[in-house]
Amino acid sequence: MDFDSYKNCTLCPRKCRVDRNIKTGYCKTGSALSLSRAALHLWEEPCLEGKNGSGAVFFGGCSLGCVFCQNREISRGMHSKEVDRDRLCEIFFELRDKGACNINLVTPDHFAPHIVYAIEKAKKQGFDLPFVWNSSGYSSPETIRALSGLIDIYLPDFKYFSNEYAKKYSNVPDYFDTAQKSLYEMHRQIPFCEFDENGIMKRGIIVRLLLLPQLCNDAKKILYYLHETYGNRIYISIMSQYTPINCADLPKELRSSVPPKDYDELCRYAEKIGIENGFLQDGESIGESFIPDFDFYGV
Ligand code: SF4
Repeated sequence: MDFDSYKNCTLCPRKCRVDRNIKTGYCKTGSALSLSRAALHLWEEPCLEGKNGSGAVFFGGCSLGCVFCQNREISRGMHSKEVDRDRLCEIFFELRDKGACNINLVTPDHFAPHIVYAIEKAKKQGFDLPFVWNSSGYSSPETIRALSGLIDIYLPDFKYFSNEYAKKYSNVPDYFDTAQKSLYEMHRQIPFCEFDENGIMKRGIIVRLLLLPQLCNDAKKILYYLHETYGNRIYISIMSQYTPINCADLPKELRSSVPPKDYDELCRYAEKIGIENGFLQDGESIGESFIPDFDFYGV
């Protein structure tokens, strides 16, 4: 993977084939790397936070663009600042020096070539924290293959079992098929999870499932599929934090939070089918407080 990938872009499954040196694709970004924030971040799973937090790097734009996005300011390409790829490498070291236990690359797929460059440069200089690929799950398996040996922890969402919902809320026809292929490639690279003596993840896969209003049955199918396929070799994080934002723009059924009884039902189902390696959220996670300010801090 090199910077020519931006010329006829197929970095994500949308395969826009635009020349991002000249125009932007569906992800609303050209070939210039753009960031919104780089800071220690809490609100992640405990094994990714450590004492001080995860070193989260938020990229501008997003190749999926869900209608209910919690980070809409940056996913629509607004509130991001162009930076040089060598600056990205410096940011990794700055976050490490602040006490981060990993480098958490948030919504990274559309900037994969820049990120590969910065990781390779950092590793040549002895950088030793794990790199986390924190994605929407709608990744190109070819892009994931190009990350082999560079990424230590995959943290993909698994948003939909039914492509009907994927079409309605994320405007993609093939979410399930694509997400399962990219997860298969992630698992090929990292078949088991490893932790240090303090319970901090060093290598592994955590799949995030954000429960959406009225999608409890769809979410159960995802859990069943993940557990049947990967058993307890991966972790599953079942999230309750869905927060409706800009309600006027949302389909009616997404304008309210998820009822706690639906979340409880999903968690009971996970237990019933034998999921042991999981993370649950408490009710305090619902709300906007976990959404950081995209104020270019650390950029
Ligand atoms: S990364 Fe952006 S331009 Fe490239 S295929 Fe995906 S949405 Fe299109």
